[in-house]
Amino acid sequence: PDSVTEPLFAAYNVCHLSEVKAALSDPDKFTMVQSAPAVRMGLAEEFGYPFGTIAAGKLAAALRRIGFDKVYDTNFSADLTIMEEGTELIKRVTEGGVLPMFTSCCPAWVKFLETSYPEMTKHLSSCKSPQQMLGAVFKTYCAKLDNVAPEKIFSVAVMPCTCKEFEANRPEMNASGCRDVDAVLTTRELAWLIRDMGIDFDALPEEAFDSPAGDYTGAGHIFGVTGGVMEAAIRTGYELMTGQPIPNVEVTAVRGTEGFHTSDIKVGDMTLRIGVVTYLKNVIPVLEDIKAGRLKLDFLEVMTCPEGCVTGGGQPKFLMETDKKEAYKKRREGTFEHDRALPIRKSHENPSIQKLYADFLKERNGKLSHKLLHTKYRTK
Ligand code: SF4
Repeated sequence: PDSVTEPLFAAYNVCHLSEVKAALSDPDKFTMVQSAPAVRMGLAEEFGYPFGTIAAGKLAAALRRIGFDKVYDTNFSADLTIMEEGTELIKRVTEGGVLPMFTSCCPAWVKFLETSYPEMTKHLSSCKSPQQMLGAVFKTYCAKLDNVAPEKIFSVAVMPCTCKEFEANRPEMNASGCRDVDAVLTTRELAWLIRDMGIDFDALPEEAFDSPAGDYTGAGHIFGVTGGVMEAAIRTGYELMTGQPIPNVEVTAVRGTEGFHTSDIKVGDMTLRIGVVTYLKNVIPVLEDIKAGRLKLDFLEVMTCPEGCVTGGGQPKFLMETDKKEAYKKRREGTFEHDRALPIRKSHENPSIQKLYADFLKERNGKLSHKLLHTKYRTK
């Protein structure tokens, strides 16, 4: 921290960071960390790299130097979310469930719906967000793999988001029998922690995340931008529904940064009508139209921040408006570039996800999945 950020740093140090530091130095704790897709870009910017730089390897290395026992990745559980959410959508469409189904990975959007449109919470997917799914997986599946008691695990999530701590604190987020996520740091807080520990970010080598809960596909990574959850779901949903490879893995029809757009996606004999909302204020007319029967959709993605999580409130701050516009554009481009560079780009083809189902969860939307990975919403 410099002279401007020092007071803020000191304030944070007495809450989130000190809690994380205490766990890191406690010999009785086994620390596991996850980082959201957008963090690997925000962190690079914090250390002076050009907008849109993907610092996945340096992020993994930094977390290891900080002292986390296992460096896992939220991108893995973004793939897991797609397996569960895609299956839920197929069931709702084919078995006559409540439509449109709404995405549920943005806690600010979920809270808004619970508070302002409680009668519409039945539209929300019952899937937890990737952060909370992985928290539950840490203290069950990973606890077994790493041969550690769940109560000894201290689970940290690094997020581009200032609402994720609220989500982790929801009383129902304890499916593992303990609190699933113990502490949430923002991208900026992680940068402060790296500086505070005297880690030379530039000198860090490129390292991989730990396997299996650090293995991810391009579909998991594009969760960080508006339309990404929808695109990832279509890549998998198409193949699960038709049994055929999707003609083009890049579902560009769902991409875009305007407030609200719709597309018709052909899936075998069926046409799915999907909608994507970016920026929470734009969802109100959409909800009103759905309620009044003026808008028919099968699936709706809603992200609170302007272009999705890459622009979240925990990401680096800007001195100038022009920087902000440029950064948003480059972060978006960088996200899709990383997706194109990855060898596997569909969530259901992630071998570590396949193994998680084969060895532990057994089936998509099954009994154990429902216990650990799904949730209920409040209507009061
Ligand atoms: Fe958080 Fe914004 Fe992402 Fe929602 S869109 S999860 S509020 S960063």
